[in-house]
Amino acid sequence: EIVIEKLSKTYRSKDGTVEALKNVNLSIESGDIYGIIGMSGAGKSTLVRCMNFLERPTEGRVLIKGKSLGDFSKKGLRKQREEIGMIFQHFNLLMQKSVLENVCFPLYIQGKRKKEARKKAYELLKLVGLSDKEQAYPSQLSGGQKQRVAIARALASNPKILLCDEATSALDPQTTSSILELLKEINSQMGITIVIITHQMSVVREICSHVAIMKDGEVVEQGLVTEIFSHP
Ligand code: ADP
Ligand code: ADP
Repeated sequence: EIVIEKLSKTYRSKDGTVEALKNVNLSIESGDIYGIIGMSGAGKSTLVRCMNFLERPTEGRVLIKGKSLGDFSKKGLRKQREEIGMIFQHFNLLMQKSVLENVCFPLYIQGKRKKEARKKAYELLKLVGLSDKEQAYPSQLSGGQKQRVAIARALASNPKILLCDEATSALDPQTTSSILELLKEINSQMGITIVIITHQMSVVREICSHVAIMKDGEVVEQGLVTEIFSHP
């Protein structure tokens, strides 16, 4: 469960200050598929970076299973970050490495041996439907296939939470649907909590149970998707 309490983030630069987040309060239940929607500049990426403990909020805190950033040692924080997988709009794959090695990469960082890492990577590639592409390089794959590799890589450290930052924004509608379908499966079969950051209403409608609407650093509405986006 993720609880965001009175979260504020102010960026200061020589040009002045930007209040990227203003008193944001959210509660995301374990096992949920939670959407965070808003236009560009609404503060979504800042919120994600705070959720991943990559950024320190100016005020307030993010609690993951009751623990906040400040509660962790450096080592504990690294361990905690392993429990949060991330996927991005532009996939962020290693272009010089094969699909298999991309998925193995986080496992090597964790100190897993080659044989063990590869076994796990094969399993994950099977899960995302890319068993036949393990030797391919990212440049040989379609956008949807690249995102599947990124999903497999994000799952390699057995995360409890998967943060998806505009993960379908670079994909056509049909590929978007197939990726959302995969995320649904991951959520229901593996019990992974999924947080979807997007500017696309259709994505929220298609897979999220709850949604928060962000505008100018604030959450202006939140609740069940069926209630917030219902049409009388
Ligand atoms: P649709 O027309 O696709 O059914 P709407 O555009 O009516 O959906 O949006 C539903 C609700 O969400 C409305 O209350 C709208 O004001 C609000 N909303 C949509 N996008 C944003 C946004 N980026 N920031 C703030 N509120 C939004
Ligand atoms: P979104 O992801 O919804 O597009 P962001 O979180 O990226 O929103 O940005 C929210 C606001 O904070 C924007 O006005 C943006 O320009 C500003 N901002 C984001 N990151 C920084 C930064 N590192 N330094 C200064 N301003 C920033």
